[in-house]
Amino acid sequence: MAGLVHSIEELVGRTPLMALDRFGRQQQCGAHLLAKLEFFNPTGSMKDRAALSMLNAAEEAGLLKPGGTIVEQTSGNTGIGLAAFAAERGYKLDIFLERGASLERRLMLLAYGARLLDYKDATGERPETKRTHPWQEPEREATLDEIAAYCRRIGAYFNNQAANPANPEAHYRTTGPEIWQDTEGHGDILVCMAGTGGTGFGTASYLRSRNPNLQVVLVQPHPDSRLTPEHPDAQIIDGVLPAYDVPESALSDYLRTDWSDACINVRTEEAYETAHEVLRAEGLFLGTSAAAALHAAVQVGRRPENQGKNIVVIVPDNGMKYLSTPMYRQK
Ligand code: PMP
Repeated sequence: MAGLVHSIEELVGRTPLMALDRFGRQQQCGAHLLAKLEFFNPTGSMKDRAALSMLNAAEEAGLLKPGGTIVEQTSGNTGIGLAAFAAERGYKLDIFLERGASLERRLMLLAYGARLLDYKDATGERPETKRTHPWQEPEREATLDEIAAYCRRIGAYFNNQAANPANPEAHYRTTGPEIWQDTEGHGDILVCMAGTGGTGFGTASYLRSRNPNLQVVLVQPHPDSRLTPEHPDAQIIDGVLPAYDVPESALSDYLRTDWSDACINVRTEEAYETAHEVLRAEGLFLGTSAAAALHAAVQVGRRPENQGKNIVVIVPDNGMKYLSTPMYRQK
């Protein structure tokens, strides 16, 4: 039967690009908004592409032994992708989750069979047999050095997506070419948020190699929407960083800002508002970073100089992982 697929790995990529015509008209946006719907990937996010690519690269480099343990630091989506492929390929997975990750991410990771660890596990402060409650927030995140030391101690492979070239490569090889094909080379502006920067950097690098005039807008959380001592209760946008406002030394290898032309700050509340508007206009159910990117894309698309241009917006995931957050809570 020629139409069958035989592995979830075959379901990664080839996601649809959807024209948000109704939404665009309602927003008085003179540009065409094209949404790259990455929640069509098998675990529901674009990070499936990077997870599969990094796993393949590690196997090819002989870094993973059959039945071995993979360790990753993640805001959730990369971990969920890795968890699915690890299950299917017979690896164990230990996850150090970033603080503030939504409950759905934790529950999905556990459902896929991953273990959720924190700094106490990394530093050996907690006995191996004891675990904290899976959705209890640790006092702090484990540092990269602590995670690396943990991997050495248990003989595990540290995937480290922030410095893993197979992360942006996945988007250079797949996301970029898909967008190029579906826009027939007529994408003018790319709008996205960034965590590791792998998606934006990889996609932008490919599209720029075909069209040096492509404009790239990097969207970042507004200062009011970041967890800081001044805003301890801020509602965050999961999985992303304020790339322009973080010292270069604290950024991942791919989250430099030199691949983007402009930066727009978006508040979490603005993302929520856009999420509800696009849901009503198009029936599209977006995750927070997608909605924030779309909010910024509308601002860009309203500028007179961008009338009639094609703006591609990356939609990393959908609203399913945000049902427990205030985003979709009934008022
Ligand atoms: N949005 C969401 C919801 C994510 O999970 C991530 C990945 N952390 C990003 C955006 C940013 O992706 P990247 O790490 O490729 O920059």
